[in-house]
Amino acid sequence: MVRLWPVKLDTVASRHLATALPPWIDPAANAGPGEALFSRAPGSTGAGVLSAYRALADAGGLTAHVAALLVASPQSTAADLDRLESVRDRFQGVPHLSLPGIKIFADGVLEYPAQSAALLGHYHNSGSQGAMLLESDSFKTLVDAADARGWLVHVHALGDRAVRESLDAVAHARQQRSSGIEHSITHLQLVDAQDHPRFAQLGVIAVMQLHWAEIDNYLLDLVRPFLSEADFLRQYPARSLLKHGAVIAGASDWPISTANPWEAMHNAMTRHGPDGGLNAAERLGREDMFMAYTLNAARVMGMSSEIGSIQAGKQADFIVVDRDVLTVPVESLKATRVLQTYFQGQPVYIAQP
Ligand SMILES: [Zn+2]
Repeated sequence: MVRLWPVKLDTVASRHLATALPPWIDPAANAGPGEALFSRAPGSTGAGVLSAYRALADAGGLTAHVAALLVASPQSTAADLDRLESVRDRFQGVPHLSLPGIKIFADGVLEYPAQSAALLGHYHNSGSQGAMLLESDSFKTLVDAADARGWLVHVHALGDRAVRESLDAVAHARQQRSSGIEHSITHLQLVDAQDHPRFAQLGVIAVMQLHWAEIDNYLLDLVRPFLSEADFLRQYPARSLLKHGAVIAGASDWPISTANPWEAMHNAMTRHGPDGGLNAAERLGREDMFMAYTLNAARVMGMSSEIGSIQAGKQADFIVVDRDVLTVPVESLKATRVLQTYFQGQPVYIAQP
């Protein structure tokens, strides 16, 4: 039995899509391969891979939407956004490429030895709280300046302090105006319980890499020894956020981890990996995950009126899969294969039998 399901943010079975890109958020499109992201110079006018997208579009090969975000240095001032605007201007009008906003790195990662994610508590080995990459006042100014331009802001935040300050920065922008722009925070490894309701209150989408919501060596060796057991269990609090009304979107963080959403859905639904489980109470349901990887992902791109569901008036972007993903057991869901991919109603990938 074959059913249709809309194509969305992340790739499907990428090795079968050599000539076709599915819809994609490129969160650092103005950075070139290997370029440092955390320490980018304020107001850099580098165009990174944007020229490659344009060349592909010119050759007729950009058969997917790309929402390209520009990394703003944590040291950026509001005025530095003018320089990002000049980069943006150079790539307007490229078919299927949109430039809806910026990415800001609020902190680093929890893993030892970096321990650069900003915590409300502290790492048990060092007593350190990690570090924010920007002061809370400049964070607020930057988010406000982007929101005033009509740009969406996508924030990298892993520690609970970085998440809180990201929400504070959006709250500040909301006080200035109601832009209606859905900003987003991605990664969300630790989120303090007090902050769970604020995603819905502030209209901030929770973008989660739930492929990571399982026990693996990174968590066991590089995170667990340095956090309280309670905080360890609170990682990637997907169901808690959902219960408090948050919109959850699925994301891959490719190439850090697989871009295959079926594998991520499996982990989100089971919270289980080869080395054990991570807090089954935070499991999400199948429909939650389909929403996360379709309509909610389109919302993060600012494109939910055009894509993300099969509906009259929207583009006919969809995939054909090899099993009934609404009913197969979760282990089978994980192994789903894409047979066909359509973009704007045209086939861009057909599996060879
Ligand atoms: Zn990130």
